[in-house]
Amino acid sequence: MSMPPGLPGKLRPGSRVLLRTDLNVPIESGRITADERIRASLPTICRLQQARCRVLVMSHLGRPREGQYDAAASLKPVAAALAERLGEPVGFRRDWIDGVKSRPGSVTLLENVRFLEGETGNSDALGRRMAALCDLYVMDAFGSAHRAHASTHAVARHAPRACAGPLLRRELRMLQRALENPVRPLVAIVGGAKVSTKIEVLERLAEVADELIVGGGIANTFMAAAGLNIGDSLHEPKQLALARRLMAPSSKRRATVPLPQDVVCEIPGSHEPVIREADEVRQGERIMDVGPKTRKHYGRLVKNARTVIWNGPLGVFEDPRFAAGTEALGRAIAASRAFSIAGGGDTLAAVGSFRVKSKMSYLSTGGGAFLEYAAGRTLPAVEILNTVTS
Ligand code: ADP
Ligand code: MG
Repeated sequence: MSMPPGLPGKLRPGSRVLLRTDLNVPIESGRITADERIRASLPTICRLQQARCRVLVMSHLGRPREGQYDAAASLKPVAAALAERLGEPVGFRRDWIDGVKSRPGSVTLLENVRFLEGETGNSDALGRRMAALCDLYVMDAFGSAHRAHASTHAVARHAPRACAGPLLRRELRMLQRALENPVRPLVAIVGGAKVSTKIEVLERLAEVADELIVGGGIANTFMAAAGLNIGDSLHEPKQLALARRLMAPSSKRRATVPLPQDVVCEIPGSHEPVIREADEVRQGERIMDVGPKTRKHYGRLVKNARTVIWNGPLGVFEDPRFAAGTEALGRAIAASRAFSIAGGGDTLAAVGSFRVKSKMSYLSTGGGAFLEYAAGRTLPAVEILNTVTS
């Protein structure tokens, strides 16, 4: 996928800029509980404001019923948080689709785009109305780039000018660096609960990576496919054929798929976990994490890697009894000289809880978009920017 054009070198003072950003933050009884996305959006907003543009900021929040106002999904609390972090006043408009008055150098947050009928259906008419608000449309929401919605797609077709914002371009550059022409060896780790949610990612990474480490419920499915007894472990019988295919040598696939040598099991009627060799798991037991030998093995693979891409935990890391595998992996990545990218909701939670966040080269902000990109799919909101400007 080619890189979409960025902000024009000269931003005209007074010009109306419609900025699609991702301010979809968790809010609990009016309080914002994590503000990473707000902070991530600040540099772009600042830049536009300093160029004395009239900045109109557009975002979604949650999944309200479309076409309807819902106070619980209002962006109003975000306007205050944005103003505080920007150190500048931020206007807020509940009704904006028919026009917004604003001054040069001002920032106005527009109410949740998902309150508008036609947003998620990518209504052309709605995109046209959004486009009428601006001289320049800037798409800067990587986390929404895998969705063709009116505010990420239709609007770009109708805006007088459309481009990608710096945040979106940075994210694409990082992913390209890891996946399109990686410094090798490239070690990919795909863990988590289910194969079925990550089929395409596994297929693509098996083609481009040198090692494909599978973890969690996904590894259980691969172990079962290799003929190992996995007791009552979480796995997907329907995905056994895919797992076998990905482990079989093939000219199309580059990656070897190492399986765990030992595992940590939960055994019936006991709180105490047990370490088992991979071929000694018994009926009724559940594999919950990788064992110490496997941790060492994966640690060595990561140490030798020059590029690492990681999605999905190696075990049930939410339970301290089964967190060691995921934690050791996080630490190994942090200590390695490899260019490393981690992405995925639970993966970022794990990275955060083990305090290795600052040691990763890049944390991808978009869960779904990250997986789609890693799977080799084009992101519609990026593709349209290339189409309309070429
Ligand atoms: P991400 O959000 O990073 O893409 P997933 O949602 O695919 O990750 O997977 C995360 C979930 O997988 C976690 O809730 C974790 O507890 C679960 N998991 C990991 N290993 C196992 C296992 N061996 N058995 C059951 N669940 C597991
Ligand atoms: Mg998840």
